[in-house]
Amino acid sequence: MTQSLSGTVALVTGASSGIGEATAVALAAEGATVALVARRRDRLEALAERLGPKGSALVIEADVCDQAQAQGAVETTVRELGRLDTLVNNAGVMLLGPIVGAPIEEWQRMVNLNVLGLLYCTHAALPHLLAAAEGDPRSVADVVNISSTAGRVARLNSGVYNATKFGVVAFSESLRQEVTGRHVRVSIVEPGATGTELASQNRPVILEEMAKTFGGIEIMKAEDIANAIRYIVTQPRHVAINEILIRPTEQER
Ligand code: NDP
Repeated sequence: MTQSLSGTVALVTGASSGIGEATAVALAAEGATVALVARRRDRLEALAERLGPKGSALVIEADVCDQAQAQGAVETTVRELGRLDTLVNNAGVMLLGPIVGAPIEEWQRMVNLNVLGLLYCTHAALPHLLAAAEGDPRSVADVVNISSTAGRVARLNSGVYNATKFGVVAFSESLRQEVTGRHVRVSIVEPGATGTELASQNRPVILEEMAKTFGGIEIMKAEDIANAIRYIVTQPRHVAINEILIRPTEQER
């Protein structure tokens, strides 16, 4: 069977765990060479090993909140792998809790990563994506931005996380209108509850609240979201999947 991403290069941020890791596996299975970007080099190296022979994955240790490192990650990818066809802006952090009295540092972490990190990577990648969309092997390129159900529905105790993910949706739609005529597709994926490390960074009191909300339901796996991303980026050139909202069946909102 032909692998639909053969001859292409993808960059996945936050590839050291969860949805990013599963996405790297899914894109590599479609034949893409994948640049794995995150801060935990050991995790990226273990994943690169799993992805197969030398050359099918590139490990890039970078903090994408730092503009120079984000740009460097993109430039290293293009220098080492020759091109960039697919950018998956996945790295994110979710720190929940009331707005009143919130630790400002938590807000800064979310805005710096979920918004600015995504913007820095996108800015650096766009010239390369536009170039890739002009020629073989696919004449199309993709930006996939991972938002959340929190980018569609605001909830109590999620105000700043909501703000970052609503922001991702707004930015993505504006960018889509700007570059779609040049065959760079911009897509948003909005997952509901998915079993990853994401929640673990919250304060214990918040974890207890989350357990009450999601404890009783069968949540999704990282691979479920990776499948949605794979679906988006393997469409033929004339089909753009703009948005996928994907929830566990039992999640109400
Ligand atoms: P994880 O916590 O498992 O993964 C987050 C990833 O982001 C890690 O690989 C982490 O790697 C990376 N990361 C964190 N900070 C940085 C940084 N400064 N620079 C580069 N990489 C960084 O969570 P998920 O897989 O669940 O999250 C992926 C995305 O999915 C996020 O955007 C999240 O908001 C979104 N999402 C998740 C949902 C869920 O229920 N799990 C639901 C809806 C959306 P490292 O620490 O090595 O840098």
